[in-house]
Amino acid sequence: QTKSVILDGEKMGRSLTRMAHEIIEKNRGIEEVVLVGIHTRGVPLARRLQEKISQIESVTVPLGELDITFYRDDLTTRSDMPVVKPAELPFSITGKVVVLVDDVLYTGRTIRAAMDALMDLGRAQKIQAAVLVDRGHRELPIRADYVGKNVPTSHQEMIAVQLTETDGTDQVTIKTA
Ligand code: 5GP
Ligand code: MG
Repeated sequence: QTKSVILDGEKMGRSLTRMAHEIIEKNRGIEEVVLVGIHTRGVPLARRLQEKISQIESVTVPLGELDITFYRDDLTTRSDMPVVKPAELPFSITGKVVVLVDDVLYTGRTIRAAMDALMDLGRAQKIQAAVLVDRGHRELPIRADYVGKNVPTSHQEMIAVQLTETDGTDQVTIKTA
């Protein structure tokens, strides 16, 4: 089994800074932008984007969370049954540009479930997706608007995302089985 570093803390920080700038640029400001982090690691990533946007624009955009579990976060058991916890966001998404934030984009099923949950909550003006790593292998017509790093993988390879908030360090590695 080999393991190699894809992003260290410095590169991760720069990628997130770039993504924050891209979110502002693509939406011509952040007046209508709200961030929604997908648990687990999408939440601290969304917080970091919120912080970076606030450093650039001096505005703190609203931040919410969605809890979507496929029993596949650890990728040991693969079930296609999405378990979406009843969504509660501390703001209305109607008319807003909702940026979904997650650590890794793979088949697209998690983002799809997140979009389903959002559509039940209100009528967003737009839904966009921001991910730290896009590892390919989409099974749905879904793509991310903002990508920290594209990492072509095989199905057997695993991306390990470590964040200071959840894992004590900032690092992304790829593990080849
Ligand atoms: P998808 O639903 O697009 O197939 O997979 C995305 C979700 O599964 C994300 O929430 C992500 O956390 C998790 N995931 C999928 N592949 C990987 C991976 O290689 N590494 C990590 N850390 N998470 C993954
Ligand atoms: Mg996840």
